[in-house]
Amino acid sequence: MPRLVIISNRLPVTINKKEGELIYYPSAGGLATGLNSLDESLQKVWIGWPGRATTDEWERESIRQDLAKDDLVPVFLSQEDIHLYYEGFSNKVIWPHFHYFTQYTTYSEEYWEAYQRVNEQFAEVVRKVVREDDLVWVHDYQLILLPELIRRDFPEISIGFFLHIPFPSYEVFRTLPWRKELLRGLLGADQIGFHTFGYMRHFLSAAYRIAGYEHHFGKLSVGNRVVNVDVFPMGIDYDKYAYPESYGAAEDGEPTIRQLPRGRRLVISIDRLDYTKGIPERIRAFAHFLDVYPEYRGKVRLVLIVVPSRSKVDQYRELKQEIDTLVGEVNGRLGRFDWLPVQYFYRSLNFSELTTLYQVADIAMITPLRDGMNLVAKEFIASKEKSRKGVLILSEMAGAGSELHDALLVNPHDIVEVTNMLHKALEMGEDEQRRRLEKMQERLKKYNVVNWAESFMNEQIKIMEERKGQHINILNGAHRDQLLGDYRKAQRRLIVLDYDGTLMGFLPDPAAVVPDEQLIELLTRLHVTAGNRVVVNSGRDKPTLENWLGSLGIDFAAEHGVWVKKGEQWQVSNALAHEWKKDIRPVLDNLVERTPGSFVEEKEYSLAWHYRLTDKDLGQKRVREFRDVLLYLTANLDLQVLEGNKVVEIKNAGVNKGKAMVNWLNGEEWDFIMAIGDDHTDEDTFRALPESAYTIKVGIAQSAARYQLLSVAHVRELLEELVAEKQS
Ligand code: UDP
Repeated sequence: MPRLVIISNRLPVTINKKEGELIYYPSAGGLATGLNSLDESLQKVWIGWPGRATTDEWERESIRQDLAKDDLVPVFLSQEDIHLYYEGFSNKVIWPHFHYFTQYTTYSEEYWEAYQRVNEQFAEVVRKVVREDDLVWVHDYQLILLPELIRRDFPEISIGFFLHIPFPSYEVFRTLPWRKELLRGLLGADQIGFHTFGYMRHFLSAAYRIAGYEHHFGKLSVGNRVVNVDVFPMGIDYDKYAYPESYGAAEDGEPTIRQLPRGRRLVISIDRLDYTKGIPERIRAFAHFLDVYPEYRGKVRLVLIVVPSRSKVDQYRELKQEIDTLVGEVNGRLGRFDWLPVQYFYRSLNFSELTTLYQVADIAMITPLRDGMNLVAKEFIASKEKSRKGVLILSEMAGAGSELHDALLVNPHDIVEVTNMLHKALEMGEDEQRRRLEKMQERLKKYNVVNWAESFMNEQIKIMEERKGQHINILNGAHRDQLLGDYRKAQRRLIVLDYDGTLMGFLPDPAAVVPDEQLIELLTRLHVTAGNRVVVNSGRDKPTLENWLGSLGIDFAAEHGVWVKKGEQWQVSNALAHEWKKDIRPVLDNLVERTPGSFVEEKEYSLAWHYRLTDKDLGQKRVREFRDVLLYLTANLDLQVLEGNKVVEIKNAGVNKGKAMVNWLNGEEWDFIMAIGDDHTDEDTFRALPESAYTIKVGIAQSAARYQLLSVAHVRELLEELVAEKQS
């Protein structure tokens, strides 16, 4: 029976020691609620730091045993680990950086080392607990390296990762010195989830630009796995906030909070102390509102709850001082004996206090400068289930902003807009309040935290099942041995190789096209091996191939089979018309003008538009636009439009890479044939060859080839092995 193994920085428990006795308090956060309600039959195990930095081995062991009763497994961290890994790398590097506060990013190698060390520590515990058939779900920014570390130990296990904070734009992410390692860590997972489409897009862009991984509808091919990248906006436990009295809150709410309004309108602001939350900006906007609309003085009040957090970090201490000063200034300047504009609390609220405050508030002003999601916004909406009165002012920069379109959305930096929205909220009629609330409530009821956890797990299970059922036949193990054996035994061998994407184009420079020394040497050695006939079967034009590889003495099929060089002479495969080129060329030239970095290659019998040096998204957009135009223009001509890897080619129908093979197959006896190619023009080659041929597709996709290799590097590795076979 598979189990669900959840791994997060903190276990959902707090441990205190009173008079020598350990006392455990379960903390029922949203995550725990969502996960607990998942399929009852699924056993759940949770791994994480228990929140106590004890070094006493006896105490550690008793904590281990106590927690084991609830299927919780502790990872013990030292004071130093907590300082460097948690307060350091997690909260002084990733947190500010991913929230676009790069001025607060502390570029410390010491923090980075601790981060790696602690992620390894987690991996060690995972190794002891996890079984290959478990489902693993890793949470959040403290454990970004963990998916790869688990993958190292369990190559086949199903791993999900959810990031609860934003993923920043590539331009910001790339400035981190450890960007490659962080990316690689995440890509160890089978599924990576984000709150919003924006974060997902940023991640995919980073994966492409930093590591060269291209996605297809959010799926990346990484090694022999598919990584699914998707959006799962986290929800809340709706009923808990809609009906708090059923979940332990006081029946009629907290009396002192109930009395708060006393005929005044109440605006609330609730956050942890954090520079991402935009608390000073909010206080300033509220004061500005009172300046612009003095008629509201004495009639509206801001209840400002700031929950203490990360108080050891300098920026947080400074922020606290700034807030203290600002509140003092606003109250000092605008306050009256019978009214203070800002009522400020620097403490946390218990559940009963929090939900009463949500209920009595007229307006929630939730205007973070950046926020992965913001659950307070959603909880506020749910708390209005009964009254259907209340207005949410919400920052566009919060993940919740991309879901709650019926809130009054604001740019938190725009003091004028925030002021106007506050005015609009105070003036809003009850009908409109209800209408907006109902729409948001409907969504939050449906996409609650249970639904969130379920949909993430269901997708992860689907990916795993697809992986198991996939007919991926990577050329290794027994198949590879057989290929090498057949190669060794054979006397006459035909080796057909595509060029771009097969022999060339791999990291660190995926755009490289000119053959490097290693490739030249490899092809030379392959060619001079007795009994070998090497054919480069490419879409590239005759002069280019001749220029790059002509001196090696190998054979060619150029321009998808239009030209053939077998031995010394180039020959055109048959008489092909090419008058059509003058009609099509202007269309492609126009395409180049609008697509920086792209270019047209004019070959004798074809035209090709290359876009491998353009922005990938722009290139694809242009292909979509132009495919139809091209197909229309070529409809009455005997032409075909071929889409290759970053190239669209127009050429005469009736020639292709497969047909070109006739030149080597007719009247020849081969006892070993191998063909390798990466795009769909190579499919013609695979189909043209006899069944006994070793046909190999580069990359994971539907193919007529019998085997797959994952990358150019793997192709070169295989060719090296072939060369070595005949030398040994
Ligand atoms: N919260 C709380 N006590 C308080 C204030 C807030 O328990 O005094 C809870 C609140 O109900 C919410 C969470 O803290 O579930 C804050 O989550 P959010 O996503 O809004 O912000 P984060 O602190 O995760 O950045």
